[in-house]
Amino acid sequence: MALYAELHRHLGGSVVPRVLWRYLQRNESDLIDRFTHYPEFEDFYTRPRNTLDEYLELHTLVEGVQTADALPYFIYRLMRGAYIFENLAYLELRYTPFLRTDPTLTQSERIDQMAQIVDIVGKASQLKEYPIVSSQILCMHSRLPYEVNRALVDLAAQSRDYVCGIDLAGGDAHYAERLDEFVELYAYARSLDLNTTGHLYETTDGHYPDLLPYLMRIGHGIQIPLHHPHLLKEVARRQQCLEVCPTTYLKTGTLQDIRQLKQVFNLCFEAGVDIAICTDNAGLNDVRLPFEYETLLTQDVIGFEELQACQDAAFRHAFAWRYAQRPASLLNRILMTDATAS
Ligand SMILES: [Zn+2]
Repeated sequence: MALYAELHRHLGGSVVPRVLWRYLQRNESDLIDRFTHYPEFEDFYTRPRNTLDEYLELHTLVEGVQTADALPYFIYRLMRGAYIFENLAYLELRYTPFLRTDPTLTQSERIDQMAQIVDIVGKASQLKEYPIVSSQILCMHSRLPYEVNRALVDLAAQSRDYVCGIDLAGGDAHYAERLDEFVELYAYARSLDLNTTGHLYETTDGHYPDLLPYLMRIGHGIQIPLHHPHLLKEVARRQQCLEVCPTTYLKTGTLQDIRQLKQVFNLCFEAGVDIAICTDNAGLNDVRLPFEYETLLTQDVIGFEELQACQDAAFRHAFAWRYAQRPASLLNRILMTDATAS
């Protein structure tokens, strides 16, 4: 069995529709009042949106539900699904802790509560029955004030047992007016020796060459090969890995056809830029990682050799995978020992 690494998955968007539906039913939430049956809800939850902003609206729905009390419920189901259906050996889970804090508190009280959220997520994702090496990426958010994002970077630095890096999310069209702030925050994060990724070059609005040098990995980055290929050389030189999440681009209207990704993969391979294939929002997108792999193969976007190169790259660029090799090497060793013994 091949075991995979997932580098780009949002805690909010990972909730599969049936788990969310059951949770809302059990808690008699009025959020489902307008749906008479589950299929209507699933259709609403997973159908494609016209823009990234519309798509991100759905995150708000889940974030509101994922309170401190409810997080273990969702994380347990997320880890179980990732282990049973996706063969994940490694998972980086990303989210904005502030958006899971109690909204009735003041901003500074909510900032204080962020550490508790990180702790809850960290503990809930360590399950003996579904063992996956996992860590958290904390997402700065374009809708949140500077103080909150700064506190998030500090929290990441203080929580290295549970946190492996930071990210910037909230739609890449919205960084422009506060670009200096985000550059400063990334520089600060790097000065604290934190690993960095960021949602950049996801849509055509996400072109921020000033932020690029601070990233160790690029969340999406598909617009670099598509529209700014001259940047590929420096991306390769900095050994930055693209986190490509194929289904998202169709759900957000960023791409019309998955085969448009062929150019992304081809140009990156030619330039020596690594790609990790990821799901982004496995629940909202209604896909699991092996399905993303299979779709890229059946649509002739990549071949098996390229797929394996991307799977290797995912482990190489994983912030909290501390081993030189993929877990398959363990199986190879066991098989070789068995062969020698017989
Ligand atoms: Zn994302």
